[in-house]
Amino acid sequence: MKNLIKKSIYSFYPKDSLKPYKLKLGYIFHTEQIYDDTYFSWLLEFCSTYYEITGARAICAIIPPTNYLLAQSLKEAGFSESNFVSRLRDIEKVATLGYHGHFYNSKTPKAEFAIHCNSFQLKPLIEQVEADLNWFRKHNIDHNGIYSGGWWFMNAFLADMLITNGFRFDYTFSRAPYFFNLFSDQIMSENQVRIGESFYLESGKGKMLCIQNFIGAHATPYVEDFDRNLKNLFSPENENGLNVGVINSHDYDLDLKNTLKCIRHLVTDAGAEFFSHDGLRALSEQQARKTALLDLNK
Ligand SMILES: [Zn+2]
Repeated sequence: MKNLIKKSIYSFYPKDSLKPYKLKLGYIFHTEQIYDDTYFSWLLEFCSTYYEITGARAICAIIPPTNYLLAQSLKEAGFSESNFVSRLRDIEKVATLGYHGHFYNSKTPKAEFAIHCNSFQLKPLIEQVEADLNWFRKHNIDHNGIYSGGWWFMNAFLADMLITNGFRFDYTFSRAPYFFNLFSDQIMSENQVRIGESFYLESGKGKMLCIQNFIGAHATPYVEDFDRNLKNLFSPENENGLNVGVINSHDYDLDLKNTLKCIRHLVTDAGAEFFSHDGLRALSEQQARKTALLDLNK
């Protein structure tokens, strides 16, 4: 919609249209370019202001430098590993860290080699997850057992590896069309998991609490865009139950001003409550009734 038309239409759009949904929200970053000074400063400013507005800490799921693409970018930018670790320490003061994985079928990090459900190979996945997790251990960076998937990729093998390695919380599953993933879609359909309903994923080695991603944080001056998109995702059953989930952005596509405007709007007009990871975890543990079993033979 053109801005002028939007302005006119939205002048009739109620500011509190999300109020009936009793939103319990968190915010997660897919944190990918902290070597960039500008993005890094915006990220810290967002997390601090977000905390002032909501009393909640954002989650920053980070890609470790063992990732092929990040390693290449750090080299090109002349950005050292010790600087990278130092920036994570700064993020830790204002946000909760997690792990964000992007995996390739080749050491050349090009889009055509990206691991998705339909291009999945087990061996390169295992190698990269192990390298990433060793990096966290080596530098004593706590990922808090939190995972969120790059390109929204998830499957039984990755989930099983995460559980085996002590991950207990996942923020990858979503019903938003932009975040579609075949495995996630099947798991949620087979187990009749509705939008905003946290659930468990279980392998023989333990289980992981899955908290859904609703939609991306909106980056336009019109907060009504966000309301409209979230309402499009919801069904009538969302009016009665608890709706727990996160909204997200990357660090590099954050619209600092408009996203904070949207957060203020959600608190003030929609009565949304924001939670840190611990709060989302507590709500989800109360709410979760369904357990999806991982099948590694599929
Ligand atoms: Zn990503």
